[in-house]
Amino acid sequence: MLEQSRRVAVFSGAGLSAESGVATFRDPGPDALWSRFDPTELASPEGFAADPERVVAWYNWRRGRLAAVQPNPAHRALAAQTRLIQITQNVDSLLEQAGASADRVYHLHGSIMRDRCHNAACDHVETVDLRNPPPLRPCPRCGAYLRPAVVWFGEALPQDVWRQAESLCRQLDCLLVVGTSATVYPAAGLIEIARAAGSRVVVVDPNPGVAGGQADLALAGAAGDVLPALLEGLDLDSGS
Ligand code: NAD
Ligand code: ZN
Repeated sequence: MLEQSRRVAVFSGAGLSAESGVATFRDPGPDALWSRFDPTELASPEGFAADPERVVAWYNWRRGRLAAVQPNPAHRALAAQTRLIQITQNVDSLLEQAGASADRVYHLHGSIMRDRCHNAACDHVETVDLRNPPPLRPCPRCGAYLRPAVVWFGEALPQDVWRQAESLCRQLDCLLVVGTSATVYPAAGLIEIARAAGSRVVVVDPNPGVAGGQADLALAGAAGDVLPALLEGLDLDSGS
């Protein structure tokens, strides 16, 4: 299917980074973040309003864990396809660390590598040192709190990134879906958008679940095992 496809893109989720040691959100195991924490308290504007210090402390804990991990063979196999666009829900930068060019990685849910101003009218952004992330602090420009530059529950996706991803998914021959439970919308809707526009869907996930149900082919395995073998010898292109 991939060999026959002129235009391919990747749509990835937390499972892509699982083998690097980054906990996913919704796996059944005890490590999954949402089985240990309440998402509405830690990843929502309401949670931030109620206790901004707790929210920042939780993100800084996740940042510390990210500082200690490396890209895995799945990130490297994807990054080696230099003409491929990587649409990801991940807020880490492991694809870029594996060599993917930053302008080929569309971060639908923002980046944990930066803080931004919580005031929507202010565009102040700061890069954060993952090893030494700063505590809760006010924006130097407007005085509102700075916060992780990620998309929280109830917030809109960055519109420019979303529009690019959506328009790409309408023009594909094949969408390669890696390690996502496909339950968080609107991101998960990209699979339906691609299918409706005639694209094939190939899923790589040890537990293909919802995405597997929408797939032409589901490869039930870990991304770090499947992707290097699957992509070896291919030169995939997103055509844009
Ligand atoms: P999810 O936790 O809901 O689903 C993870 C999926 O990965 C599951 O289908 C699981 O079977 C699969 N998986 C587990 N191990 C795998 C492996 N080795 N190889 C391939 N697949 C594997 O994650 P999601 O669908 O990305 O949820 C969306 C939300 O999670 C997003 O908002 C995203 O920002 C956030 N998130 C990001 C990170 C990160 O940036 N690394 C980590 C956790 C959660
Ligand atoms: Zn500000």
